Amino acid sequence: MRHLVFERTPARVYWELTRACDLACRHCRAEAMPERAADELTTEECERVLRELAGAGPPRPHVVFTGGDPLKRPDLVELVKYGVGLGLGVSVAPSATPALTHDAVEALKRAGVSAMSLSLDGSSPARHDGIRGVLGCFGWTLVGAQRIVNAGIPLQINTLVSAETEPDLEEIAKVVARLGASRWSLFFLVPVGRGRTLCPLSAHESETTLRWLAAHAGAWPFTVTTTEAPHYRRVMIESRLAAGLWGADGRDNGVARSFGIRDGNGIMFIAANGDVMPSGFLPLVAGNVRDAEATDIYRFASLFRSLRTPEAFHGRCGVCGFREVCGGSRARAYAATGDPMGEDPLCAHDPAVAS
Ligand code: SF4
Repeated sequence: MRHLVFERTPARVYWELTRACDLACRHCRAEAMPERAADELTTEECERVLRELAGAGPPRPHVVFTGGDPLKRPDLVELVKYGVGLGLGVSVAPSATPALTHDAVEALKRAGVSAMSLSLDGSSPARHDGIRGVLGCFGWTLVGAQRIVNAGIPLQINTLVSAETEPDLEEIAKVVARLGASRWSLFFLVPVGRGRTLCPLSAHESETTLRWLAAHAGAWPFTVTTTEAPHYRRVMIESRLAAGLWGADGRDNGVARSFGIRDGNGIMFIAANGDVMPSGFLPLVAGNVRDAEATDIYRFASLFRSLRTPEAFHGRCGVCGFREVCGGSRARAYAATGDPMGEDPLCAHDPAVAS
């Protein structure tokens, strides 16, 4: 079993370069605004943090520039190029707006971007635009996706999973395949930011959805991952073990690579003003990159260190046989109970019954 504790460096750094965005999606985590804020990190500060991240490896973390809309930063291409020059993998998660032009995508390609992601929360304009609350967004997403794929950049599609989108997931999967995406990442709603206006699945519904994903993942022409639903790993292990297939045909590598990674353990979030949190959905600030090195905050802040001790988690997650590979969504535990060490209420697993 590979090492499941990421003590020295995060595997992924989600970096909200700006909260500015021309969209105003109904469930935006960042509660994005039209204009850039005065306290955003400067280009020079961003470059210093990139140097810190590159110096923390090996292995070096993978940086995902997100927002808001990172295209709102005129230095985005420069920052991608700088990070890539330091040996970092850098991905970009832009908003689907008319600013995602052919030239913008080509410039990111030349800068060495590893991948780009777009959000798709419905299989039709009515469904997608209805969920996001922005008319025309579905069309911009399809055009942007085509530009990314045509540029030869791996495309990831991010989809919200909530009571509103769950009935449409099968159709969305077909669109993801048609777009030529290489990865489908399903974000199981954590009610933070504007996301409080949407309705999460129940634990039972979530289990059904995860089992459906596990059953279909091998047949789709893209990789399936989840965000804030690490118990997908438990479901994958259980379903593969039940079929006598775990480790038998090499198909477990994709999910196994994510083992252990969760908010604060392998994941770090940097907000536009430099605040560091365990994830964008867990709004507890452990420090600011203006005051301390990003990697020092990740390594030594008591919040991050406690999130790397699954044996200290409370409720079912603390006694679960899957706590090392899964550990539950720390963000959802916090949103539900005010305790980031609490149990993830979206999980239907009962360790007392399993043992
Ligand atoms: S009880 Fe917690 S650690 Fe166990 S599978 Fe569910 S979410 Fe994961």
